[in-house]
Order: sequence, then C-alpha cells, then structure tokens
Amino acid sequence: MSPVITYSRNVFLPLTFVCRNICGYCIFRRPPGEGCVLSPDEVIRVLRRGAEAGCTEALFTFGEHPEEVAGFMPFLEQYGFGSILEYCHAMAEEALRLGLLPHTNAGIMTADEMRYLADVNASMGLMLETTADIPAHRNCPGKEPARRIAMIEDAGRLKIPFTTGILLGIGETRSDRRESLEVIAGLHRKYGHIQEIIIQNFCPKPGTDMSAFPGATLRDMQETVRMAKEILPSDIAIQIPPNLADAAQILPCGVTDLGGISPVTIDYVNPEHPWPAFDELAALTKGYTLKERLCIYPEYIRRGWYHPRLRDCIISLENTIHMRGTSVIPAKPLYEGKAKSVYASENPDELIVVFRNDMTAFNGVKHDQFTDKGRLNATASEFFMKMLEAEGIPTHHIRMSAPDTMIVRRLEMIPLEVIVRNVAAGSMTKKYPVKEGMVLDRPVVTIDYKDDERGDPMINDDLIEVLHILTADELRKVKEMALHVNKVLTRFFDKCGIRLVDFKLEFGKADGTIYLGDEISMDSMRLWDKKTGESFDKDVYRFDKGDVIAAYRNVLKRIIPDSGV
Ligand code: ADP
Ligand code: MG
Repeated sequence: MSPVITYSRNVFLPLTFVCRNICGYCIFRRPPGEGCVLSPDEVIRVLRRGAEAGCTEALFTFGEHPEEVAGFMPFLEQYGFGSILEYCHAMAEEALRLGLLPHTNAGIMTADEMRYLADVNASMGLMLETTADIPAHRNCPGKEPARRIAMIEDAGRLKIPFTTGILLGIGETRSDRRESLEVIAGLHRKYGHIQEIIIQNFCPKPGTDMSAFPGATLRDMQETVRMAKEILPSDIAIQIPPNLADAAQILPCGVTDLGGISPVTIDYVNPEHPWPAFDELAALTKGYTLKERLCIYPEYIRRGWYHPRLRDCIISLENTIHMRGTSVIPAKPLYEGKAKSVYASENPDELIVVFRNDMTAFNGVKHDQFTDKGRLNATASEFFMKMLEAEGIPTHHIRMSAPDTMIVRRLEMIPLEVIVRNVAAGSMTKKYPVKEGMVLDRPVVTIDYKDDERGDPMINDDLIEVLHILTADELRKVKEMALHVNKVLTRFFDKCGIRLVDFKLEFGKADGTIYLGDEISMDSMRLWDKKTGESFDKDVYRFDKGDVIAAYRNVLKRIIPDSGV
C-alpha cells in the first residue's frame, strides 16, 4: 500500500481575537471592540454546520489570556462568562453535544487550567514556535520559550495527547530549528504525549511589522521536514499545512499528516489562504493513501488517554471515519436532486449518493430542511436494499461510507417511477372513484414517466415501448421485480405492526442487467400503523400532521430496534 497521509475534518472557532501577545507577524490579533468575542449563538451555528458537513473536530483557537487586555472583559461578560477558559469549556460541551471532539489551543495555560479543560477536550495544542529569542516575540509575554516548554511538559504529566510545532521564517536560524525539534523529541521521550508536530511556514502579512520578511521557502520546508524525520521519534506525526505550503513538493520528505481541514470555516490565522477542497486534497496526495483521523490519534485512544465523558463521542466518530473510509467526496455533485446529491467517485462504476436533509412535496412546491432526516432515510434505504439483495433482487447498494452516504453502482436510470399499491391512498383516491384506505383485491403496479417539468404523467405499456424506454420483455421484468419487492416488504412490515400502503421504485441498467436503484425510505413509501392507522411517512410532512422526524425515527425503531436512533 502507498504511504498513508492523514487529515482531520474540523471547524475553526476563534472564540476571541483579543490577545495579550503582540507578535510582529500576526494579523489574527484585534483590540477589544464589537465582535471581538464570537457569540455563543455563532459558535453553535458553526458547530451545527460542521456536524452537518461531517466534521469530527471543533478546533478552539483564540488569543492568549485576553483578560489581561484592558477593555476586554465586558465583551465576554455580556455572555455570562468570567474567563475565556470558562467560555471555552462551555462551548466545548456544546461541541460534544453535537458530536464533535474539541481540541483547544489557548496559548499558555497552567497545569490547573489544562486539567480544567481536559474533561471536554480530546487533545490540546501549543506551538513551541522556536526555542530562540527573536525580535518578533519582543512584546509577547507568552512566547518566552521556557514558558512554552514548561507547559508542554505539564501536558505530558497530565497525559494530554498534544500537538505542537515550529514556525519557520520568523527570524530563527537553521540551528535554532534543530534545537527546537530536539527539545520536542526530548519531551516526548519523557512523557510520550506528542502526537503530532506542525512544521509551519510563516507567511508575511501586509500591514504587519514583518511584512517585508521573505518568509520560509519551499527549500526550508523540505529541509526541515527531513530534519524532523531524522530527529523525532517515529511515532510523532509530521504535519504541514496544505493551505500554506506546496504539499505535493514537501510530502516526499517525510510528511505524514495534513492537519485539520475545514469544509465550513476559514483559517483565521491565515485568512488569505483557503483550505483545499476534499477533491483537491485527493489530487495533492496522488500516490499516497489519504486517511481521515480524529484530533486524538489512534494510539492515544487505544491507551485510554481521554476523559470518560469523551468516550461515546470518540467511539461514534471512529466508526464514522472508518465507514467513510478513504473515499473523498468531490466538491461538485454530478446531479443535485430534490432529496439527494449524486457525486462521481474514483471508481467509474460507482457513485456516491448523499441523502440530504431537504424534504420536498408536491413536486417541490413545499420545501423544508430537517436535521438528521438524511441519515434516517439512508439508514432505512440501506436496510431494505440489503434485505432485497438477500431475496435475490439486484440492487445498486454497495456500502455506506458515512451514516448519510451510500456508495452505489452507477446505473443508467430508466425514467420511470414504478409504484406498487396495496391500499388506496394519495393521488389514486383523487383520480379514481375509490376511498382512501380501501384494501385492493390484489397489488397493482402503476407507472409514471419521471419528469418534474411535465409533472410526472402516468404512462402505459404501449407508450413505454414506442418511446423506447423499455422493451416489452424488460418492462415485464421490471413489474415482476416490483411485485417481488412488494411481497418481501409487506411481509416484513406486517411483522413490525406496520401496513405498507404503497411505495415508489426506480430502476436502472448496468451491463445489461436491471437493478433496483434510488432509495427505499420513509420518503418513498406510505406506511400506516396497523392498529391506529397513523401515518409514519412523508404524508406527515405533506399534510402537516405532526413531527415528521419523530415519525421517521419511529419507523426505524420498529424495523431496526438496535439502530440506536
Ligand atoms: P430527484 O429530485 O430527481 O428525484 P433525488 O433527490 O431523488 O432526485 O436524487 C437522486 C437522483 O439520482 C435521482 O434522479 C435518481 O434517479 C438518480 N439515481 C438514483 N440511483 C442511481 C444510480 N445507481 N445511478 C445513477 N443515478 C441514480
Ligand atoms: Mg427522488
């Protein structure tokens, strides 16, 4: 296998831009003023977006001891917090609640402060930057090398999985770099807690004292990565930031990690350098195996170096990234439907289908979004596709790569919606003289031509044949499959106390075989409680009958009791 390069999917939360240090190269720092503290609402909004985008890490990076800056406190106190670390702790709890693992880089902290944050942080970090005394750090009480080293040492005593790193091109010499790396190696030999070291090239910013500095060159980066590989124990990951450095040129020198990459937020420390999108990342790391990791590395999970409060979140996220595997979702979908987005995958015979949280009805006239809806439908769909495969019905399902993402066989879709009805309901009762709820003598198959613009008109066998949609034989096969699906599903739902009223299927072809495609979910079936007649499907949304997500969850609870929804 090709060498592995890891990365973490994160959201960046700069809780405050106020900082007691005044570094010659920084544009992150701002004086106290309106907006200098990220409000709790904003933090939660970003965390939510991160959770929806599949992020696993909430990176809390902010100015060091902002309380020491005159005029700062009122901006924090308006939210009811007495210190920035107290605020960080509260927001880390929110992150955990939403299923993201916090990693905090708060600058210099005492051992007590780290202990305070450790029950809600999976890892912490502090850049050593350099062991040298440099002019850029003249006005920075927190950048004194001895203090930084002491804190990294404290973290080791506390068994906190730790991230540190050095900054290249801020006025240090080559031998300073060597010394910095040696210090880090020494700390790790003593405590075993350094999980990764960032080798970061300083990028000069206009308007700062150091705007005319040349910054670090590609050569510097390559040379220092090689130096790190030689000096550091091999269990420390070597990380470079792919938004700042030419990753493809530096990876071969011994890089093993690309750090946190965010589909949601910018790099607030280097806002002029956007993160690569996940598909660009795949291109950058051609020849390597790109692998997702959490902010706590596997070795530290194995050793149990985390607070028991973090356990559930760690286990669930390990599962998520395992399922997501090494497949990378491209930036743009091939097709964005009403409820799902379809992406190309590296394998030309496969597609990536993401079940979104969008809910639509009446051909898109009604449209809303519901948290978790995508995952609930994806879970049901996978469950039924597997059940049908086992009954000999070919389906497009291959595997799940995330709770809301299914890898499927790429099909040439047949533009038909094949509907099987057991009980009269919905449009059938509008078009024909039949009462809702009447049990039909036998299941019937009706077929619509799938075309939103034409309003999905009903079509018949003759038209299907003369419009060259399917041959008579293929149509017979499709109907046979639809009735077979009905038999399997009806029998199963009956055992769960649910009546399968009707449902819609879509089929497609690959290599001359007809497969069941699309989805089988609460969006595509009409399901009634056998006893009460209550709806558990999209009708709850269509006709505002109540909480649609509760209804969908109810179905999953009944069909997969151990799914934990
Ligand atoms: P729509 O609004 O068209 O119903 P969806 O939101 O349901 O779209 O997104 C899924 C789209 O992908 C549908 O158009 C469906 O026909 C298509 N599709 C489903 N399964 C496959 C497959 N295996 N290969 C190719 N296309 C598929
Ligand atoms: Mg659809």
